[in-house]
Amino acid sequence: MPDLGRQLHEHVEALFPICRSITGEGLRETLRYIGRVLPLEVREVPSGTRVLDWTVPPEWTIRGAFVATLGGRRVVDFRRSNLHILQYSMPVDRVVTRQELAAHLYSLPDQPDLIPYRTAYYGDTWGFCVADRDRQALTDDSYHVRIDSTLAPGSLSYGECILPGSSSNEVLFSAHCCHPSLANDNLSSIAVAIELARWLMRAPRRYSYRLLFMPGTIGAIAWLHANRDCVHRVEHGLVLTCLGDPAPISYKRTRSSNAAIDRYAAAALREEGHAHRVHPFMPIGYDERQYCSPGFNLPVGCLMRSPGGTFPEYHTSADNLDLVQPGALADSLRILQRIVHLIERDEVWRNASPYGEPQLGRRGLYAPIGDELSTQTYDQMSLLWVLNLSDGEHSLFDIAERSGRPFDAVVAAAEALAKAGLLQRDLLAENDGSVATLRRRPDRVDAVE
Ligand code: ZN
Repeated sequence: MPDLGRQLHEHVEALFPICRSITGEGLRETLRYIGRVLPLEVREVPSGTRVLDWTVPPEWTIRGAFVATLGGRRVVDFRRSNLHILQYSMPVDRVVTRQELAAHLYSLPDQPDLIPYRTAYYGDTWGFCVADRDRQALTDDSYHVRIDSTLAPGSLSYGECILPGSSSNEVLFSAHCCHPSLANDNLSSIAVAIELARWLMRAPRRYSYRLLFMPGTIGAIAWLHANRDCVHRVEHGLVLTCLGDPAPISYKRTRSSNAAIDRYAAAALREEGHAHRVHPFMPIGYDERQYCSPGFNLPVGCLMRSPGGTFPEYHTSADNLDLVQPGALADSLRILQRIVHLIERDEVWRNASPYGEPQLGRRGLYAPIGDELSTQTYDQMSLLWVLNLSDGEHSLFDIAERSGRPFDAVVAAAEALAKAGLLQRDLLAENDGSVATLRRRPDRVDAVE
């Protein structure tokens, strides 16, 4: 575990210095890094392309920026922190009065030592983000401001890692990668998603997996626009964000709030002792807003530790390499692997001998009352519950929830019963390849012949 935490933190360290935005070289450099460790398809959507109700903006290139005294002393310098530049600032190179400069400065009076992170993607303006303490020290009458940037036609980049499984039904993971040097809010989830994908690549997969690395909002909108005819393949989805801070894990429900992923995630948090950290859906936050817009209404929740906006370091220079902890990153990955395990192993079976209890003794599956089958990973009660509820209407996860037996004991009991010929895979669920579909979309179940 310490090694895995270290490895995750090294991804964060490697990506931290890059000045990312919703378009541009920093974003591409980040995708190139991911592409060196994962099979990644990078898409480029030209500026000006209409995507759903939006238009892909011009590409922003930032080469340097400073505020200097007229004597040439740089009092704010992009080279010291890429947070200093208001993202998407237009180029400027002139002398301004202190009053004019003040209208273009952003600071946090309540956190006077921290540089805020601010954006102006869709406004024609320029600005600098500074520590309030440094702002108070700007007492000259005039300053030289220079922003060496370009706003020009280019493209919006995003990356897709597709890992096919035996079914074409998909599990979607989505991480934003448009923030500059901010560690928890963006790099932690990129790091965890990278190692989640590498783990998935080594494992047998029932589902197909799609991991998206994209700029927030406009990236998800561009992806949904390009995939609007096939998004129905997404059976379960999670937006990943803020997965490296020391707070315990938390989960925000999907729009429907009772999708299968809501139940899997809630169960995983319950196992961790954090059942109270499951939050209701709200139409604000990260890209779950796009996936859960009413026209798509995809079963996509959001997994995080501290929700964005709730921790004091959020969108400031204090969201740095110290805030993100190796142990927290590894813990987030472990919980995600548990959720994937629930997704992969939740199946629908049918009792092949449903008239009366089958005689378990002659199949070596019966233990006298109080005498557990001690060498097995399942128990007698799990066996009886699986037999009783495997009627094509209940998945193994349903059976675990209803019986209160551990999910893994229920799975083991089902395997033993299947081996003894007492359970068959449910053909309806098999044809459709998905448990979630059976339960969540009765309209589609009818369509399966
Ligand atoms: Zn953010």
